[in-house]
Amino acid sequence: MTIHPIDVIQHKRDGLALSDAEIQGFIRALVERESTVSPPPDAPTESQTAALLMAIFLRGLNPRELAALTQAMRFSGETLDTSSLNAFTIDKHSTGGVGDKTSLLIAPIVAAAGLKDPMISGRSLGHTGGTLDKLETIPGFRTQLPLPEFLSILRQCGFAMAGQTPTLVPADRILYALRDHTGTVESPYLITASIMSKKLAAGLNALVLDVKTGSGAFMSRYEDAQLLARLMVETGERAGTRTIALLTSMDQPLGRFAGNWVEVQECLELFQHFSPDCAFTLTPEKLRLSADLLALTHALAGQMLTLGGKTATPEDGAKLSAQLLADGSAYRHFLQMVALQTRDPKNSVVLSEVTRGHSASHEVEGPAVSLSSHEAPYLAAFANPAAFHKPAATRTLTAVGAGFLSAMDCKQIGWAVQRLGAGRTHPGAPVSAHAGIEMHAKLGDRIRVGQPLATLFTDDPTLLDEPEAMLRETLQISDTPPAPILLIREILTKDQLG
Ligand code: URA
Repeated sequence: MTIHPIDVIQHKRDGLALSDAEIQGFIRALVERESTVSPPPDAPTESQTAALLMAIFLRGLNPRELAALTQAMRFSGETLDTSSLNAFTIDKHSTGGVGDKTSLLIAPIVAAAGLKDPMISGRSLGHTGGTLDKLETIPGFRTQLPLPEFLSILRQCGFAMAGQTPTLVPADRILYALRDHTGTVESPYLITASIMSKKLAAGLNALVLDVKTGSGAFMSRYEDAQLLARLMVETGERAGTRTIALLTSMDQPLGRFAGNWVEVQECLELFQHFSPDCAFTLTPEKLRLSADLLALTHALAGQMLTLGGKTATPEDGAKLSAQLLADGSAYRHFLQMVALQTRDPKNSVVLSEVTRGHSASHEVEGPAVSLSSHEAPYLAAFANPAAFHKPAATRTLTAVGAGFLSAMDCKQIGWAVQRLGAGRTHPGAPVSAHAGIEMHAKLGDRIRVGQPLATLFTDDPTLLDEPEAMLRETLQISDTPPAPILLIREILTKDQLG
């Protein structure tokens, strides 16, 4: 049966439910238009695709249509076949936040417990940061891996962190680029299809979703975040992947830093602080500023460890997660992943590395070659993560009044970070490794006059003024403390779907 794009658009525009054949036909022809020299004559044009996106944005999709769209996107290109691993595959995905670096801690934690996490991540989007942009600040780190190498790294160290390949879920890449400039990003239906098609293409047994809510989330209203969580859990479960969602607060940057390298730095410092082999300790104040990051990390990892059969309850899972950080095994897995993802794929080597009193040997197939720190430049960065951070300019914002840090618009903080150079001005533009902010206070903290509130980092000093003004405007100090913020607001499983 021929599917005509104009019919599909008109049906959705008029509020009718699309058939599975219409959805599959539209997506198939869309991908063929981009990937073949002689696309089908009735392939949707860019303007027709944008029109359908807007119709979906305005009319929504019923659960069957959403499942059909997600599956059509999932199978629009290659998929990852993890069956040869004979292991439980699981991942965590966040809907996007400010300073949200939990992926860098969680993937090595669950790998250290024996689960496999094929983590396919994204770049910064709007006011939110992207795991790939953070990882690429590690000298020599490769985020574009062919699927066989991705699988091989996953097999060897339990997790791999890379970007979408050109052949994995190509439909999402086409639709995403269009959504970005047609005002259709914030549709819970389109977000669900986008995220879940990529996660399902990675061949997961289970998925834990961190659905952000609050001023720094795409879905700032709680009811919208709840709808998004529900749609994603429903779609994952329909496709046979155990899926649960945590609704979590994004009312202030998570942890101490937001940016690119600075977020890697925060994670390295936490790994090294907790690892018994590392002679490095964070001050109690720095640890306190990262406490929400650690709490969310252990809560999400705890759910994953339970779904993966490693613990009986998420509470036990959170304890195991903390232990795997404290015994150094999560850090060893992180080092192994970085060693594998920074090596020249042409050379098979045995890497031996030493960081700040911590040693780890990584067995990789092939002849033994010992790499010095000169040959593996990330080692110097890891040996002193704070010293590796060399922004061209910094500026510290101090409090003009006393009281309590009572409110902030976290999206505004995210935009300030992006405008310091951490984000892109247009698709494909490079990002600054060193741009970002360090928060010196959390919501509810008592503030003295002159106390540092935030430090801004940039590679271009002309970029400092606007973000400084944005932070000054949004960081509110008042006489009374704000109501305490609940980091984890709700946990949604298939049993609550009704
Ligand atoms: N992340 C994605 O991958 N897709 C979206 O639509 C939103 C966030």
